[in-house]
Amino acid sequence: MNCDKCQNPAVAHLRYSDIRLCKNHFIGLTTDRIRKTINKNKFFERGDRVAVAVSGGKDSIVTLRELHDISKKRGIEIVGVTIDEGIADYRPESIDIAERTYKELGVDYTILTYKERVGKPLDKIMEKPDINRACEYCGVFRRRLIEDGAREMGADKIATGHNLDDEAQSIFMNYIRSDFPRIARSGPKTANKKGFIPRVKPLCNIPEKEVGLYAILKGYEIHEDECPNAANAFRLNIRDHMNLIEDKYPGFKFGIYNSAENLRNILADVNIEKNTLKKCENCGQNTSGKICKFCELKAYANKE
Ligand code: SF4
Ligand SMILES: [Zn+2]
Ligand SMILES: [Zn+2]
Repeated sequence: MNCDKCQNPAVAHLRYSDIRLCKNHFIGLTTDRIRKTINKNKFFERGDRVAVAVSGGKDSIVTLRELHDISKKRGIEIVGVTIDEGIADYRPESIDIAERTYKELGVDYTILTYKERVGKPLDKIMEKPDINRACEYCGVFRRRLIEDGAREMGADKIATGHNLDDEAQSIFMNYIRSDFPRIARSGPKTANKKGFIPRVKPLCNIPEKEVGLYAILKGYEIHEDECPNAANAFRLNIRDHMNLIEDKYPGFKFGIYNSAENLRNILADVNIEKNTLKKCENCGQNTSGKICKFCELKAYANKE
Protein backbone atom coordinates (compact mmCIF):
# COMPACT_ATOMS: atom_id res chain seq x y z
CA MET A 1 0.00 0.00 0.00
CA ASN A 2 1.50 3.31 -1.06
CA CYS A 3 0.87 6.87 0.02
CA ASP A 4 -1.85 8.66 -1.98
CA LYS A 5 0.37 11.74 -2.26
CA CYS A 6 3.70 10.11 -3.20
CA GLN A 7 5.15 6.66 -3.92
CA ASN A 8 6.45 5.89 -0.42
CA PRO A 9 4.92 3.09 1.64
CA ALA A 10 1.84 4.16 3.61
CA VAL A 11 1.97 4.07 7.44
CA ALA A 12 -1.66 5.12 7.98
CA HIS A 13 -5.03 4.65 6.35
CA LEU A 14 -7.46 7.39 7.47
CA ARG A 15 -10.63 5.46 6.75
CA TYR A 16 -13.03 8.36 7.45
CA SER A 17 -11.58 10.21 4.46
CA ASP A 18 -10.17 7.10 2.72
CA ILE A 19 -6.62 8.38 2.31
CA ARG A 20 -3.35 6.50 2.76
CA LEU A 21 -0.30 8.41 3.89
CA CYS A 22 3.43 7.79 4.26
CA LYS A 23 5.30 8.90 7.36
CA ASN A 24 6.15 12.39 6.05
CA HIS A 25 2.71 13.12 4.65
CA PHE A 26 0.99 11.81 7.79
CA ILE A 27 3.16 14.02 10.01
CA GLY A 28 2.63 16.99 7.68
CA LEU A 29 -1.14 16.57 7.59
CA THR A 30 -1.43 16.14 11.37
CA THR A 31 0.74 19.18 12.13
CA ASP A 32 -1.35 21.15 9.64
CA ARG A 33 -4.62 20.11 11.25
CA ILE A 34 -3.38 21.08 14.74
CA ARG A 35 -2.27 24.49 13.48
CA LYS A 36 -5.53 25.03 11.59
CA THR A 37 -7.49 24.33 14.80
CA ILE A 38 -5.32 26.87 16.64
CA ASN A 39 -5.81 29.52 13.91
CA LYS A 40 -9.48 28.92 13.16
CA ASN A 41 -10.49 29.16 16.81
CA LYS A 42 -8.09 32.05 17.57
CA PHE A 43 -6.64 30.21 20.57
CA PHE A 44 -3.84 32.65 21.36
CA GLU A 45 -2.90 36.30 21.31
CA ARG A 46 0.65 37.59 21.21
CA GLY A 47 2.03 37.87 24.73
CA ASP A 48 -0.12 35.04 26.09
CA ARG A 49 1.40 32.81 28.72
CA VAL A 50 0.02 29.34 28.06
CA ALA A 51 0.03 26.63 30.72
CA VAL A 52 0.03 23.16 29.17
CA ALA A 53 -1.37 20.44 31.41
CA VAL A 54 1.16 17.63 30.99
CA SER A 55 0.73 14.12 32.38
CA GLY A 56 3.47 12.52 30.28
CA GLY A 57 0.99 10.58 28.09
CA LYS A 58 0.96 10.91 24.29
CA ASP A 59 -1.76 13.60 24.12
CA SER A 60 -0.19 16.02 26.55
CA ILE A 61 3.36 15.48 25.24
CA VAL A 62 2.23 16.15 21.65
CA THR A 63 0.36 19.27 22.82
CA LEU A 64 3.37 20.56 24.75
CA ARG A 65 5.81 19.95 21.90
CA GLU A 66 3.55 21.39 19.19
CA LEU A 67 2.85 24.55 21.18
CA HIS A 68 6.50 24.90 22.07
CA ASP A 69 7.36 24.61 18.34
CA ILE A 70 5.12 27.54 17.39
CA SER A 71 5.69 29.62 20.53
CA LYS A 72 8.47 31.87 19.21
CA LYS A 73 6.69 32.69 15.97
CA ARG A 74 3.38 33.32 17.73
CA GLY A 75 4.90 35.38 20.51
CA ILE A 76 3.50 33.14 23.25
CA GLU A 77 5.24 31.69 26.28
CA ILE A 78 4.76 28.07 27.31
CA VAL A 79 4.79 26.83 30.91
CA GLY A 80 3.84 23.40 32.25
CA VAL A 81 1.47 22.16 34.96
CA THR A 82 1.70 18.54 36.06
CA ILE A 83 -0.60 16.91 38.59
CA ASP A 84 0.54 14.08 40.83
CA GLU A 85 -2.67 12.33 41.88
CA GLY A 86 -0.76 9.85 44.03
CA ILE A 87 -1.32 6.64 42.06
CA ALA A 88 1.58 4.29 42.84
CA ASP A 89 2.96 2.11 40.00
CA TYR A 90 1.48 4.47 37.42
CA ARG A 91 2.02 8.18 37.90
CA PRO A 92 5.71 8.39 38.96
CA GLU A 93 6.96 7.12 35.59
CA SER A 94 4.78 9.51 33.62
CA ILE A 95 5.87 12.44 35.79
CA ASP A 96 9.51 11.54 35.05
CA ILE A 97 8.73 11.72 31.32
CA ALA A 98 6.93 15.06 31.73
CA GLU A 99 9.88 16.48 33.67
CA ARG A 100 12.46 15.22 31.16
CA THR A 101 10.46 16.83 28.34
CA TYR A 102 10.10 20.16 30.20
CA LYS A 103 13.86 20.19 30.81
CA GLU A 104 14.72 19.28 27.21
CA LEU A 105 12.54 22.13 25.93
CA GLY A 106 13.58 24.57 28.65
CA VAL A 107 9.98 25.03 29.81
CA ASP A 108 9.23 26.27 33.36
CA TYR A 109 6.83 24.01 35.22
CA THR A 110 5.11 23.23 38.48
CA ILE A 111 3.95 19.94 39.99
CA LEU A 112 0.90 19.97 42.26
CA THR A 113 0.07 16.93 44.38
CA TYR A 114 -3.24 15.68 45.73
CA LYS A 115 -1.36 14.86 48.92
CA GLU A 116 -0.64 18.54 49.52
CA ARG A 117 -3.63 20.22 47.89
CA VAL A 118 -6.43 17.76 48.63
CA GLY A 119 -5.00 16.31 51.84
CA LYS A 120 -4.37 12.73 50.68
CA PRO A 121 -3.03 10.92 47.63
CA LEU A 122 -5.70 9.24 45.47
CA ASP A 123 -4.59 5.75 46.57
CA LYS A 124 -5.36 6.71 50.19
CA ILE A 125 -8.69 8.31 49.27
CA MET A 126 -9.67 5.06 47.55
CA GLU A 127 -9.15 3.17 50.80
CA LYS A 128 -12.40 4.67 52.09
CA PRO A 129 -14.83 1.78 51.70
CA ASP A 130 -17.69 3.90 50.36
CA ILE A 131 -15.62 5.57 47.63
CA ASN A 132 -15.38 3.28 44.63
CA ARG A 133 -15.53 5.55 41.62
CA ALA A 134 -11.98 6.92 41.54
CA CYS A 135 -12.46 9.01 38.41
CA GLU A 136 -15.41 10.93 39.83
CA TYR A 137 -13.14 12.31 42.58
CA CYS A 138 -9.95 12.38 40.57
CA GLY A 139 -11.47 14.31 37.67
CA VAL A 140 -12.84 17.08 39.89
CA PHE A 141 -9.61 17.39 41.89
CA ARG A 142 -7.39 17.41 38.82
CA ARG A 143 -9.44 20.06 37.05
CA ARG A 144 -9.12 22.38 40.06
CA LEU A 145 -5.42 21.72 40.54
CA ILE A 146 -4.67 22.43 36.87
CA GLU A 147 -6.54 25.73 37.27
CA ASP A 148 -4.63 26.54 40.50
CA GLY A 149 -1.28 25.55 39.00
CA ALA A 150 -1.90 27.65 35.88
CA ARG A 151 -2.92 30.64 37.99
CA GLU A 152 0.18 30.29 40.17
CA MET A 153 2.32 30.20 37.01
CA GLY A 154 0.67 33.46 35.84
CA ALA A 155 -1.00 31.81 32.81
CA ASP A 156 -3.60 33.50 30.57
CA LYS A 157 -4.69 30.23 28.93
CA ILE A 158 -4.65 26.53 29.74
CA ALA A 159 -3.98 24.02 26.92
CA THR A 160 -5.00 20.41 27.41
CA GLY A 161 -4.36 17.33 25.29
CA HIS A 162 -8.00 16.29 24.72
CA ASN A 163 -8.26 14.45 21.41
CA LEU A 164 -11.26 13.70 19.17
CA ASP A 165 -12.07 10.49 21.07
CA ASP A 166 -12.05 12.31 24.45
CA GLU A 167 -14.34 14.97 23.02
CA ALA A 168 -16.77 12.48 21.42
CA GLN A 169 -16.94 10.49 24.69
CA SER A 170 -17.63 13.63 26.77
CA ILE A 171 -20.30 14.85 24.36
CA PHE A 172 -22.01 11.45 24.40
CA MET A 173 -21.88 11.25 28.21
CA ASN A 174 -23.29 14.77 28.51
CA TYR A 175 -26.13 13.88 26.13
CA ILE A 176 -27.01 10.89 28.29
CA ARG A 177 -27.02 13.11 31.40
CA SER A 178 -28.95 15.85 29.55
CA ASP A 179 -26.16 18.19 30.62
CA PHE A 180 -26.67 20.70 27.83
CA PRO A 181 -25.07 23.60 29.73
CA ARG A 182 -21.87 21.57 29.80
CA ILE A 183 -22.08 20.89 26.07
CA ALA A 184 -22.69 24.62 25.51
CA ARG A 185 -19.60 25.47 27.59
CA SER A 186 -17.28 22.92 26.02
CA GLY A 187 -15.73 22.84 22.54
CA PRO A 188 -12.23 23.62 21.27
CA LYS A 189 -12.02 26.80 23.35
CA THR A 190 -13.92 27.67 26.51
CA ALA A 191 -14.75 31.29 27.14
CA ASN A 192 -13.63 33.27 30.16
CA LYS A 193 -17.10 34.26 31.29
CA LYS A 194 -17.07 32.38 34.61
CA GLY A 195 -13.83 33.79 35.91
CA PHE A 196 -11.90 30.62 35.10
CA ILE A 197 -8.79 30.67 32.92
CA PRO A 198 -9.87 29.94 29.30
CA ARG A 199 -9.02 26.42 28.11
CA VAL A 200 -7.97 25.39 24.62
CA LYS A 201 -7.68 21.95 23.04
CA PRO A 202 -5.32 21.91 20.05
CA LEU A 203 -5.85 18.16 19.40
CA CYS A 204 -9.66 18.21 19.61
CA ASN A 205 -10.16 16.98 16.05
CA ILE A 206 -7.32 14.44 15.89
CA PRO A 207 -8.42 10.83 16.57
CA GLU A 208 -6.65 9.21 19.52
CA LYS A 209 -4.96 6.55 17.37
CA GLU A 210 -3.49 9.24 15.15
CA VAL A 211 -2.12 11.18 18.12
CA GLY A 212 -0.41 7.96 19.24
CA LEU A 213 1.02 7.26 15.78
CA TYR A 214 2.17 10.88 15.43
CA ALA A 215 4.00 10.71 18.79
CA ILE A 216 5.71 7.44 17.79
CA LEU A 217 6.69 8.65 14.29
CA LYS A 218 8.09 11.87 15.75
CA GLY A 219 10.12 9.79 18.23
CA TYR A 220 8.65 11.46 21.32
CA GLU A 221 9.14 9.82 24.70
CA ILE A 222 5.64 9.10 26.04
CA HIS A 223 4.08 7.15 28.90
CA GLU A 224 1.90 4.41 27.44
CA ASP A 225 0.40 2.68 30.48
CA GLU A 226 -3.24 3.06 31.39
CA CYS A 227 -4.30 4.17 34.87
CA PRO A 228 -5.18 1.09 36.97
CA ASN A 229 -8.42 2.83 38.03
CA ALA A 230 -9.58 3.34 34.46
CA ALA A 231 -10.79 -0.21 33.84
CA ASN A 232 -14.10 0.26 35.64
CA ALA A 233 -14.75 3.77 34.44
CA PHE A 234 -17.97 4.46 32.55
CA ARG A 235 -15.93 6.48 30.07
CA LEU A 236 -13.85 3.43 29.19
CA ASN A 237 -16.95 1.42 28.31
CA ILE A 238 -18.16 4.29 26.14
CA ARG A 239 -14.73 4.40 24.50
CA ASP A 240 -14.75 0.68 23.66
CA HIS A 241 -18.24 0.85 22.18
CA MET A 242 -17.43 3.95 20.18
CA ASN A 243 -14.37 2.20 18.76
CA LEU A 244 -16.54 -0.71 17.62
CA ILE A 245 -18.98 1.63 15.90
CA GLU A 246 -16.16 3.69 14.36
CA ASP A 247 -14.73 0.47 12.97
CA LYS A 248 -17.98 -0.31 11.17
CA TYR A 249 -18.90 3.25 10.28
CA PRO A 250 -15.74 5.35 9.79
CA GLY A 251 -16.40 8.98 10.64
CA PHE A 252 -18.80 8.21 13.51
CA LYS A 253 -16.70 10.10 16.08
CA PHE A 254 -16.44 13.14 13.81
CA GLY A 255 -20.25 12.93 13.48
CA ILE A 256 -20.69 13.16 17.26
CA TYR A 257 -18.15 15.97 17.47
CA ASN A 258 -19.87 17.95 14.70
CA SER A 259 -23.31 17.42 16.23
CA ALA A 260 -22.11 19.22 19.37
CA GLU A 261 -20.61 22.04 17.30
CA ASN A 262 -24.01 22.52 15.64
CA LEU A 263 -25.84 22.32 18.94
CA ARG A 264 -23.49 24.94 20.43
CA ASN A 265 -24.36 27.33 17.61
CA ILE A 266 -28.04 26.93 18.47
CA LEU A 267 -27.46 27.19 22.23
CA ALA A 268 -25.33 30.32 21.76
CA ASP A 269 -28.52 32.40 21.58
CA VAL A 270 -30.12 30.75 24.61
CA ASN A 271 -28.96 31.74 28.08
CA ILE A 272 -29.29 28.28 29.59
CA GLU A 273 -27.15 29.10 32.61
CA LYS A 274 -28.96 32.17 33.91
CA ASN A 275 -29.22 32.60 37.69
CA THR A 276 -27.00 29.62 38.38
CA LEU A 277 -23.77 31.36 39.35
CA LYS A 278 -22.76 31.76 43.01
CA LYS A 279 -19.51 31.81 44.96
CA CYS A 280 -18.48 28.72 46.93
CA GLU A 281 -18.83 29.56 50.63
CA ASN A 282 -15.64 27.68 51.35
CA CYS A 283 -13.12 28.57 48.61
CA GLY A 284 -14.78 31.46 46.74
CA GLN A 285 -14.73 29.77 43.31
CA ASN A 286 -17.77 30.02 41.07
CA THR A 287 -20.32 27.29 41.58
CA SER A 288 -23.99 26.58 41.03
CA GLY A 289 -24.61 25.51 44.67
CA LYS A 290 -23.48 26.77 48.08
CA ILE A 291 -20.33 24.67 48.13
CA CYS A 292 -18.40 23.78 44.98
CA LYS A 293 -17.85 20.18 43.91
CA PHE A 294 -14.13 20.34 44.72
CA CYS A 295 -14.76 21.40 48.33
CA GLU A 296 -17.59 18.90 48.72
CA LEU A 297 -15.53 15.93 47.50
CA LYS A 298 -12.39 17.11 49.31
CA ALA A 299 -14.28 17.26 52.61
CA TYR A 300 -15.71 13.81 52.05
CA ALA A 301 -12.35 12.33 51.06
CA ASN A 302 -10.80 13.63 54.29
CA LYS A 303 -13.66 12.67 56.61
CA GLU A 304 -12.61 9.97 59.06
S1 SF4 B 1 -8.37 7.16 35.00
FE1 SF4 B 1 -9.58 8.07 36.65
S2 SF4 B 1 -8.33 7.74 38.49
FE2 SF4 B 1 -6.99 7.41 36.74
S3 SF4 B 1 -5.97 9.39 36.42
FE3 SF4 B 1 -7.81 9.32 35.09
S4 SF4 B 1 -9.45 10.29 36.29
FE4 SF4 B 1 -7.77 9.76 37.72
ZN1 LIG C 1 3.67 10.42 0.95
ZN1 LIG D 1 -15.14 25.49 47.00
